[in-house]
Amino acid sequence: MTIKTESCVFDHLPSDIAKQLKDLLESEHFTGHFTAEQYSNLLNNSNLSDTELKLALLPIAASRAYCAISNFHVGAIAEGNSGSVYFGANIEIPGVQLGQTVHAEQSVISHAWMKGETGIKNITINYTPCGHCRQFMNELNGIEQLAIQLPNRPAYTLQDLLPDSFGPQDLGIKARLMDSTRHNYQSSEASSFIQQAIKALNISHAPYTNNHSGVALMLTSGEIFQGSYAENAAFNPSLPPLQVAINLLLLSGYSLDDIQSAVLAENSKATISHLAETQSTLEAINPDITVTYLSL
Ligand SMILES: [Zn+2]
Repeated sequence: MTIKTESCVFDHLPSDIAKQLKDLLESEHFTGHFTAEQYSNLLNNSNLSDTELKLALLPIAASRAYCAISNFHVGAIAEGNSGSVYFGANIEIPGVQLGQTVHAEQSVISHAWMKGETGIKNITINYTPCGHCRQFMNELNGIEQLAIQLPNRPAYTLQDLLPDSFGPQDLGIKARLMDSTRHNYQSSEASSFIQQAIKALNISHAPYTNNHSGVALMLTSGEIFQGSYAENAAFNPSLPPLQVAINLLLLSGYSLDDIQSAVLAENSKATISHLAETQSTLEAINPDITVTYLSL
């Protein structure tokens, strides 16, 4: 899938790096992130500092926002512990209540998580994080080391932005979002589509409800995207598995119109379920999307 990027987002960059970036972004294999090597090459050729380059990438990330309700484009860039650099942007789904939206910080964090990262070194955002996102980030593995960079500001820690915070430790929970905890749910279902949803379930973070859950979305092209549930100590900033999968497909250049079918797999003994919201959100996107439900 090739993503066309509006040329205006390159205007503020030196021409040689703009060309290198454009080639990377428009490569058929670009799925919304740079490997550590690609990013390092960009940085070396840019004559910019690491922070300056990440700030310069923000308009490109923001151009990926899917925000027909607000028309407010928020972009985020995160560097994972591996050195890979990820894009994130806000998502709003027309016709669906605002509780189902995804903020750019949630987008970039869940993006890095789904691609195997177990922590984030720094996050760069074009607007100051809202209270919801500060709380969402407070769940992260290694949050004490996270640097939060905004344009024209010094780097902050989450402690600077969310002093006297409430978090997992207040509920006696040791697990953190993005840590390497794995669950061991299994099914004899042979379909690789269903197995992808179970795989997503097995890395989900749900220490408060035990609603370990995962979604797999199949597109008309046959490509499959996964999403794992990211729960939060304060409950409301929790990010449903469907949104995590939708985020990945949008950042890869696909559209919601490309979704053909979905699988939701979740723990049968949990105190909550994502079934009703998964069905109703997909129904609003396209009533023809089929939903398979697996309770394990
Ligand atoms: Zn936010």
